Amino acid sequence: MTDSHPSFPTRLAGHDWPELKPGWVWLCGAGPGDPGLLTLHALNALNQADVVIYDALVQQDILAWAPQARHIYAGKRGGKPSAKQRDISLQLVDLARAGHKVLRLKGGDPFVFGRGGEEAQTLVQHGVPVRIIPGISAGIGGLAYAGIPVTHRDVNQSVTFVTGHDQSGETPCSLDWQAIAKGSQVLVIYMGMKHAAQITASLLAAGRPADEPCAVVSSATTPDQKVLETTLGQMAADIEASGMEPPAILCVGRSVLMRQVLDWQGMMAGDAPRDLDPLGRGLPAEVSCPG
Ligand code: SAH
Repeated sequence: MTDSHPSFPTRLAGHDWPELKPGWVWLCGAGPGDPGLLTLHALNALNQADVVIYDALVQQDILAWAPQARHIYAGKRGGKPSAKQRDISLQLVDLARAGHKVLRLKGGDPFVFGRGGEEAQTLVQHGVPVRIIPGISAGIGGLAYAGIPVTHRDVNQSVTFVTGHDQSGETPCSLDWQAIAKGSQVLVIYMGMKHAAQITASLLAAGRPADEPCAVVSSATTPDQKVLETTLGQMAADIEASGMEPPAILCVGRSVLMRQVLDWQGMMAGDAPRDLDPLGRGLPAEVSCPG
């Protein structure tokens, strides 16, 4: 902590927090929504920035922690066309060159389906110094808020993160769904709502079972979070029937079953765990199953 940003929590004194200097851009993940999932580096950045340029998925509460800064919206909302990626990157260059202390805030992790790599590359190409602050990605933290461990020893030794859109906004035909289906026991699909029917059909055609457990988690970690438990065969129809809206993560795999014992938000609201041993591994002797 330095004197230049005294509002940063004093309990964190003792660590040498970096200073956001004029002419720099810090490219920072804001996490999936819940402001409590910001990193301390993100908070340190919010304290110091004089410009925050943020995406659609960044919660307003988080921006409120940078009241001294100008807030510039660079995303898609309310049906307006999204700012062009190249324009955003060049705007960052201009802001840095104008001597601002620029915080580029993106949902989740900036390098996970967030085009953070492209922005950082453009900045470096233009000689603008950057710092990267990782964030909690929706495909990990969002599932955790739904009580779904993204890896679980009895289920998966690997996990695949997939995007359901390509650059044109269409399903990525270029993806080898056969290989993806066979590649790991758990698939975490970002931006998959629009093309859920095509994606699930491809996975079924590639041999994933129709009764495989799946979940859809929308607006994860926010007060609007919704969770749908379904199967691969039913997922597209169930999404349609549920009226769930993006942003949402689709999860395919048996780790979804763990929600029956790990739905901690449900338990906080008073629900009993549905099954203490959803994977049938056998309970410790001192535990008896509910009901
Ligand atoms: N960089 C982000 C991902 C950006 S792509 C990250 O690491 O999380 C945008 C996609 O992320 C959305 O279409 C959705 O699939 C997912 N996403 C982001 N925030 C989410 C949230 N709060 N709940 C569910 N999905 C979310």
